[in-house]
Amino acid sequence: MIKVCKFGGTSMADGNMMKRVASIIKSDDSRRYVVVSAPGKRFGGDVKITDLLYACYESVKETGSCGDAFAKIADRFRGIVAELGLKMAIEDVLDDTRRAIERERSADFTASRGEYLSARVMAALLGFEFIDARDVVKFRADGQLDSELTFDLTAQALKGKKYAVVSGFYGEGADGRIKTFSRGGSDISGAIVARAAMADLYENWTDVSGFLACDPRIVENPVGIRAMSYKELRELSYMGANVLHSESIFPVRAANIPIQIKNTFRPTDEGTMILPISKYTYSGRIVTGIAGKKNFAVIFIEKSLMNAEIGFARKVLSAMEKHGVSFEHMPSGIDTMSFVIDSESLKHGILEELLEDIRKAVNPDNLRVFDDIALIATVGHGMSKNVGTSAKLFDAIARAGINVRMIDQGSSELNIIVGVDNDNCERAIRAIYEEFFKKSEATFGL
Ligand code: ASP
Repeated sequence: MIKVCKFGGTSMADGNMMKRVASIIKSDDSRRYVVVSAPGKRFGGDVKITDLLYACYESVKETGSCGDAFAKIADRFRGIVAELGLKMAIEDVLDDTRRAIERERSADFTASRGEYLSARVMAALLGFEFIDARDVVKFRADGQLDSELTFDLTAQALKGKKYAVVSGFYGEGADGRIKTFSRGGSDISGAIVARAAMADLYENWTDVSGFLACDPRIVENPVGIRAMSYKELRELSYMGANVLHSESIFPVRAANIPIQIKNTFRPTDEGTMILPISKYTYSGRIVTGIAGKKNFAVIFIEKSLMNAEIGFARKVLSAMEKHGVSFEHMPSGIDTMSFVIDSESLKHGILEELLEDIRKAVNPDNLRVFDDIALIATVGHGMSKNVGTSAKLFDAIARAGINVRMIDQGSSELNIIVGVDNDNCERAIRAIYEEFFKKSEATFGL
């Protein structure tokens, strides 16, 4: 039995937390490979090491030196090493790190040092070997993970090592320079190590006892999700349920390795199991979870006989490609087509240029943009098995007096996505939750 354990920033926040992590690892012999984040927040208002490092990079960019910005980072690590009573030449390591940050002058390199240092400290504490992610996690020239090479190199590095600690969040780009994943990316690193080790389980240790059916800031005390499929996870995490990075399923999914979300503060809690659909036992609930994300724009295109115009969509899509704009959903009708796009990617004049290009390309009868749209995904394999699910959902939203601006039901029947005005996002989530988790709870069943 091999378990790969990833510990997030809160679990690594200070020496005490690291001791707690070490005791969790040592309590189970099968917890052989460990991936760690950089130290996160110790208390509300504290600053994550990764954020301190990004601030440090700003100083390097402007002045060529870390200036005072490195002092806080050095202090945190000095404190951790002292608290743990480790015999580590931490001053030398910190000095080297500061010099390397000034030499490299790269945001990714600077940010990666949090994980680098915390993995080295954790390896020393556990007495495990340290594997630098730079040597095993490789990106292609287009910036995407080179999965095959990465799995091979990681498997080779693990071979013959009973135990090891691997730094999370970063790897090496095709140009030989350090490159990070997007924020929260140590979850992906953990999944890579789990895949390379062909682990039986990928344990992802964080500061909550798994996924909840929706955001507890929106609904008080929502029910926990005991088990879900990789697909449900992908939908929910993409739409803002941020317990786990939405890309972390890819390395493990192909090898059917389950992910378990565990809470470092309550290690005996069961957490959430994320499983391949074949091993997934249906919970009896119609809906597994609800997640919402704000700030989308909808570009609405109308043209009579659009359906007969071959190449219409291609022309619109080419205009979007030209401006580097990707879309989330594309609901369409006979003579209409809409694109739901993250508003952020349309800023700085891109929207105006894109509209102009669409006008030129397809000469629409009507071209409009709706702004400030929130998308709400109601996700669950159970939806396809129950007649009337969408009726219930739309009824609940209507009863709350909320206008639906867009609907997209994936053909997999795994989710129904509705677009509402940003201001109605929370109320709509509450209405859907009430409907599926409170009101009809007694009538659930297949
Ligand atoms: N430390 C990085 C971040 O704060 C990566 C991670 O923790 O997963 O985003």
